[in-house]
Amino acid sequence: MLIYLNGQIIPSEKAVISIFDHGFLYGDGIYETMRSYNGVVFKIEEHIKRLQKSASLISLSLPFSEEILKRDIYETLHANSLLNAYIRITISRGKGDIGIDPELCKKPTIVIITKEFNGYPERLYKEGIKLIIAKTRRNHKNALNPQIKSLNFLNNILAKIEAKKEGAYEALMLNVYGKIAEGTISNVFFIKDNTIMTPSTKCGILNGITRQTVIEMIKKENLNLKLGFYTKEDIYSADEVFITNTTMEIMPVSMIDKKKYKVGKYTNKLRKLYKKEVELYIDQHTTYNIN
Ligand code: PMP
Repeated sequence: MLIYLNGQIIPSEKAVISIFDHGFLYGDGIYETMRSYNGVVFKIEEHIKRLQKSASLISLSLPFSEEILKRDIYETLHANSLLNAYIRITISRGKGDIGIDPELCKKPTIVIITKEFNGYPERLYKEGIKLIIAKTRRNHKNALNPQIKSLNFLNNILAKIEAKKEGAYEALMLNVYGKIAEGTISNVFFIKDNTIMTPSTKCGILNGITRQTVIEMIKKENLNLKLGFYTKEDIYSADEVFITNTTMEIMPVSMIDKKKYKVGKYTNKLRKLYKKEVELYIDQHTTYNIN
């Protein structure tokens, strides 16, 4: 496996970073996860924009343009001969002396990891996955804004540990006011009385690129959509639930805590529409020309 590290594409065994890297010492950094289909990175511009937003929210200036980053991502995919892949770009504050002052780091560390990925097992989409509602609350946006896709991931990891203890795949987190926010690595939607609902960004969530794509699809189809503030009881009484993220796309949910759901017609319809959306994007965007 070949890794992009600070401008070079090198074997993974040689891709090492300093123990003084502030990403390692303090979780000081940001990241993005992307997915490529048939050699095209889906919504790459949106992901790069969000990376830039995360960088700006932590006062990190990125030492490259959008175009250069795009080229580096595609070069890493090409170097690994990958068409269908998981892509993770990690940018830390960089190497610096001990101490949390960001100015101790002169240059960010940039890593791009790519890995063959063809989606999750079809069985999960057919049956749906189990979730729990975690006791761990989502960070308040005035403490650590969930809009920052931060390397400081312990809030989500604590909820994931709860999920694993219960044999669940993912944990939903409430915000500090008890309203449903999001999953540890996903956004959530539910359907009740023929209306598709999802927490508003005002609940303190990451505005997922998949979430935004699904919302656009729902609007285009003229389906009923509500973005709001919802409680546990709202989701327990829903007819269908699904979660979204870049790698899972739209994943049906079969159970939250003790409540069971069927994989219903809205979820199946949106899954099909999402696949079409991806196909259309792939057709309209040719793979990047590296020269
Ligand atoms: N919320 C959180 C906390 C996440 O980590 C992710 C995954 N990046 C998402 C939502 C979904 O975002 P996206 O659709 O852009 O993958």
